[in-house]
Amino acid sequence: MAFSIRTRLTFWYTALLTVSLIVFAATFSYTLSRLFMSRLDAQVGSVANMMVHTVMNPRGEILLPADFEIILERFFGVRTAGSYIQVIDPHGNILGRSANLEGASLPISKETYEHAVIGDTTFEVIPRSGAYSLRMVTKPIVFKKQGLVAIVQVGTSLELMEEIFNSLIYIFTIGIGVAIVVAGGVGMFLARKALYPVTEITSAARRIEAESLNERIDVAMPNDEIGMLATTINEMIERLEKSFSQIKQFTADASHELKTPLTIMKGEMEIALRSGDDLKYVKEALESSLEEVDRMSDIVNNLLDLTKIEAEREAAPIIPVQVDSVLTERFNAIKRVAAEKGVELVMVKNSPLTVSGEPVRIGQLLSNLIDNAVKYTPGGGRVSVSSESENGFALIRVIDTGVGISIEDQPYIFDRFFRVDKARTGGIGGAGLGLSICSEIAESLKGTITIESEPGLGSTFTLRLPLCNTVA
Ligand code: ADP
Repeated sequence: MAFSIRTRLTFWYTALLTVSLIVFAATFSYTLSRLFMSRLDAQVGSVANMMVHTVMNPRGEILLPADFEIILERFFGVRTAGSYIQVIDPHGNILGRSANLEGASLPISKETYEHAVIGDTTFEVIPRSGAYSLRMVTKPIVFKKQGLVAIVQVGTSLELMEEIFNSLIYIFTIGIGVAIVVAGGVGMFLARKALYPVTEITSAARRIEAESLNERIDVAMPNDEIGMLATTINEMIERLEKSFSQIKQFTADASHELKTPLTIMKGEMEIALRSGDDLKYVKEALESSLEEVDRMSDIVNNLLDLTKIEAEREAAPIIPVQVDSVLTERFNAIKRVAAEKGVELVMVKNSPLTVSGEPVRIGQLLSNLIDNAVKYTPGGGRVSVSSESENGFALIRVIDTGVGISIEDQPYIFDRFFRVDKARTGGIGGAGLGLSICSEIAESLKGTITIESEPGLGSTFTLRLPLCNTVA
C-alpha cells in the first residue's frame, strides 16, 4: 500500500520520537535503580558489619545478646529502624532476630548458604507475596579453626524504590503516549504545511495544458528546494511554449508555401479546361504546373533536409573535409549561372583548410551562400569569395554588391520561411529555407554565420567553422 509522503514523514518522525523516549525512560530507570540499590546495599551492609561485631565477644565466641538492637544503636550508633535483622547458626537454627520481624524469619537459599560456607557475602532481592520485596545481605562469620559459626542476615524493605518505580512507569507510559499523540498531530500538521506548495505545484501543473502554456506556477520562495522545483518546471513550460509556437508557426508557413503553387496550378488547369481543344493553353498550363511542381518539390526537399540535419546532429558521420576543394567545386558550379546573369564571380583567396564534418552538407552550406549572393545581386554587380584561417577557424567570406538587407530584417533572415520580399511568389529566391539550412548546418559543425549588410550596397556573409586538428 502506497502512503503519501506526509504520512510517511509523520510516521518516521513519531517512530523516532517513541524510540528516543523509550530509550530515555529505560536508561533513566536503570540508572536510578542502580543508585538506589547501592545506597540500600551500603545501609544493610553497615548494619550487618555492626551485627558481626556485636555477635562476637572478645574471646572470639559467638554470643548474641538479647538486647542486640539497643547495643547496635547505643554503642555503634546504627539506626536499626526499618532493618530486619536475623542471626542463624550454620544449621539454620535461629539464634536471634529483630523484633520487627514479629516471629517471621528471613529466608536463606541453598545457593546463598553455600556462598556463606566459603565466607562469601551475598546481596539479593527477596520477593515477598503481598508485601514489598526486601533487599537482603547475608554475611557469614567464619573462624579459622571452626569454619562457619554463624550467619548474619540484614534486610530492608524496597517499598520506597518500588513505589517510585511504579509511579515512574505510570508517568512514562502516560507521558510517552501523550507525546506520541501530540507529536503525530503536530508532525502531520507540519508535514502538510511544508508540503503544501508541492500540492499547489501539482494542481497548477495539471491546469497547464497545450492551450494554456502561457500560464506559470506561482513561486513564493524561489530559493528553497520547492521554489527551485517550481522555477525549473516554469522554465520547462517556457521551453515547451516556445517549441509549440514554433511548430504552429512552422506548420502555418509550410501550409501557406505549399498552398500557393497548388492555387496557381488549379487556376492554370481551369483555364486549360475552359479553353476547349486549344492545345496552346493546355501546353502553357502544363508548363506552368511543372514549374510549380518543381517549386513544391524544392520546398519539400528543403524541409526534409532541415529535419535530416537536425537528426544527423546525433549521429553525423564526422570526417576531415578539405574546405578549399569543396569551395572550388561549388564555386565552379555556380560560375555559369553568374556569368549568364552578368554578375562577376571571383575567388579572392582559397587557403588549404580542413574542417570536421560531412562534405555534402558543407557543400550545401557554401552553395546556398554563394547562390544567394548571385541571386540577390543585379547584373553588373560582383560577388567575391575568400577562404582563410583565423584563430583556429576556417573563415569563409561571401561578399556581394547586391540589394543588401535592412538592419530590421537582418535578425530574421535565418528563420524558416523568412523572405525580405514577402510578396514575391516566383522569380528569384525560394521559400526562405536556404539560410535556415545554412545556419542548421553551421550549428551542427559548431560554427557560426554572421552578416553585415547595407541596403543598396551589398552584403557580406561570414562563415566560421572550427579547423580540424587531424591532417587529412
Ligand atoms: P530564399 O530561398 O528566399 O533565398 P534564404 O533563406 O536563402 O531564402 O534567404 C532568406 C532571405 O534573405 C531571402 O529571401 C532574401 O531576402 C535575403 N537574402 C539572403 N541572402 C541575401 C543576399 N546575399 N543579399 C540580399 N538579401 C539576401
